[in-house]
Amino acid sequence: MKLLGLLGGMSSASTALYYERLNAGARARLGGLHGANLLIRSVDFAPIAQMQDEGNWAAMGDQLAAEAIALERAGAEMVLLATNTMHKLAPQIGDALSVPFLHIGDATAKAIRASGYSSPGLMATAFTMEQTFYTDRLRAAGLAPVIPVAEDRRLVHRIIYDELCKGIISETSRIAYVDVAQHLKAAGADCLILGCTEVGMLLSNENAPLQVFDTTHIHCDAALDWALVPAQVPA
Ligand code: GLU
Repeated sequence: MKLLGLLGGMSSASTALYYERLNAGARARLGGLHGANLLIRSVDFAPIAQMQDEGNWAAMGDQLAAEAIALERAGAEMVLLATNTMHKLAPQIGDALSVPFLHIGDATAKAIRASGYSSPGLMATAFTMEQTFYTDRLRAAGLAPVIPVAEDRRLVHRIIYDELCKGIISETSRIAYVDVAQHLKAAGADCLILGCTEVGMLLSNENAPLQVFDTTHIHCDAALDWALVPAQVPA
């Protein structure tokens, strides 16, 4: 299995989900005591979140590009950025690398297209829902994303930063998230992107009114598809 470099910590709760999914996926595919072959760099999220609030994307781009290069120098054969929001900086990070950078939005769009859906509702941070770096990527892949109304965007964003990024799971917030998903369905969405890597802590196909596309799961599974070339999978 090729060595995957995971650039995480945004948030630490997200990186824990990646670690779990990548290892479960490797075990499911390879059996026995197999696990994922990983290098993890987990940054401190507090200064990043502050720079997000200040709009200091240039400094974050420099920092994350340097961290991605360090993963490559340490031997990573592909780099995964374990957050949707920070994919705003994907061009800068990808350009800094000579190994592949697996874009979470592209992997998600591909999974949606392959399942025959076209109008995904998007539940994510305000940055991801309101700026164009992510929705443009979905549109370029032929999808027509449906964005929550302002009040729902505020709620989804607040719960991500005040609860999910701190590992807090609240049943009240779970109900609120199901409501937002219902509103997206009423607005014409035919499926739902969990467009923030922590949203799967509250929503899944068990409780959502639309077919769910969990970006954490999709990103991890696509990385494993790439890392586990068939020749390396035992018969
Ligand atoms: N993990 C989140 C995401 O997927 C939010 C935290 C961040 O701002 O990076 O967007």
